[in-house]
Amino acid sequence: MNLSEYKGIFVFAEQRDRKVQKVALELIGKGKELAKDLQTTVTAVLLGKDMLDEAKKLNYAGADKVIYIDDDALDVYMTEPYVHALHTVVMDKKPEIVLFGASAIGRDLAPRVSARVHTGLTADCTSLDIAQDDDDKEKLNLMMTRPAFGGNIMATIACPNFRPQMATVRPGVMKEAEYTENNKVNIEEYKVNMPAGCKNVEILDTIKIIQEKMNIEDANVLVSGGRGMRGPENYPILEELADLLGGTISASRAAVDAGWVPKDRQVGQTGKTVRPNLYIACGISGAIQHLAGMEESDYIIAINKDEYAPIFEVADVGIVGDIFKVVPALIEELKKEGR
Ligand code: FAD
Repeated sequence: MNLSEYKGIFVFAEQRDRKVQKVALELIGKGKELAKDLQTTVTAVLLGKDMLDEAKKLNYAGADKVIYIDDDALDVYMTEPYVHALHTVVMDKKPEIVLFGASAIGRDLAPRVSARVHTGLTADCTSLDIAQDDDDKEKLNLMMTRPAFGGNIMATIACPNFRPQMATVRPGVMKEAEYTENNKVNIEEYKVNMPAGCKNVEILDTIKIIQEKMNIEDANVLVSGGRGMRGPENYPILEELADLLGGTISASRAAVDAGWVPKDRQVGQTGKTVRPNLYIACGISGAIQHLAGMEESDYIIAINKDEYAPIFEVADVGIVGDIFKVVPALIEELKKEGR
C-alpha cells in the first residue's frame, strides 16, 4: 500500500430525517484542527435524498468541501447501501483519515467500511491527535485515544501501516467550529451505481419514541442524580431544580441500573457524553466511568455527604451535605429570586 497516495480528512456527515446530526458538525470541528497539523483539508461526505440545501450547512460548519451522494436508497439509513456508497467514495478519493460519530448508525457503518477497505478502526474515541511516526519521521499518524479495561486506563492506538485511518468518536466530545454562512459553498455531487442486490432490506415503517424531556446532550443545565437519591420517588426534587434552571435531569449508571431513570438519561462511559454550561451532581460518587461523560462540563457543582467523594476533585463548587436538605434549600432560594 502506498500510504502517500492518501490525502485529506473525511467526515461521515450523519443525517436523520434529512437533517445533518450535531455529531457531524463536531467532527468537522475536530477535523479542522487535525487538518492544520497535516496541512490538508476536511471533506464532509453526505449520503441522502434531496439534501442539497442541507449539504451547504456542512460548509458553513467548516468543511472545505462536501461530497454529496443523492440516491433513493440513501434516504433512510440502511446498512448495505450506505456501506456500498461510502466504500466506493473512499476507494476513489483515498482520504488519509475517515471519522464517524459513535452513534448507532456510525457504529454499524464504520466497521463494515473499514473491513471492506482493509484498514483498522478505533471505536469510541475520546481524543484525536496527530503525531510523527516512530520509524519514519516524514510520516504523520492519527493518534486515537479511547478508554480501555473498563475505563481504568486510556489507550492510544495508531494505524501506521494502513490507510485510511478510521475512528468513531462519541457525540458531545469534540467542539464544533464556528458556524458561518460566509464560508464558501463547495459541493461535489457524486454518483454511485447501486447494484440491484444492494437494497436487501426494506423499511416498512419507522416508529419514533416521543421524548417529553430535553435530550441530555442538548441541555445547557443538567441536574444529575445518583444512588444517593435512594429511589425514583425522590427524583421530583431534581426535576423541580432542573426546571427552575431551564435544564433537565440526568443520572449515573447506578440510578439507571436500579430502574429509577431511563437509560437515555445516563451520563458516562456507557451512557452519553455531555458538556452543559452547568452540571449539578447530586449523590453521585464520581467513579471514573461517570466522570468520562461529564468532566468537560463548563461548571460543575457536586452535592455529596461524603467529603472524600472523588466527584469533588472535578467540581468547581463542592457542597458537603445531605441532598435532601441542600436541594430543597437551593429550590427555595431560586424561587425567592423569582425564577
Ligand atoms: P455510588 O458510587 O454508590 O455513590 C453514591 C454517592 O451518593 C456516594 O458518594 C454517597 O456518599 C452519596 N450519598 C448517599 N446519600 C446521600 C445523601 N443523602 N446526600 C448526599 N450524598 C449522598 N457509571 C456511570 O455513572 N456511567 C457510566 O456510563 C458507567 N459506565 C460504566 C462502565 C463500566 C465498564 C463499568 C465497570 C462501570 C460503569 N459505571 C458507570 C459504573 C461506575 O463505576 C459506578 O458504579 C457508578 O457511577 C456509581 O454511581 P453513583 O455515583 O450514583 O453511586
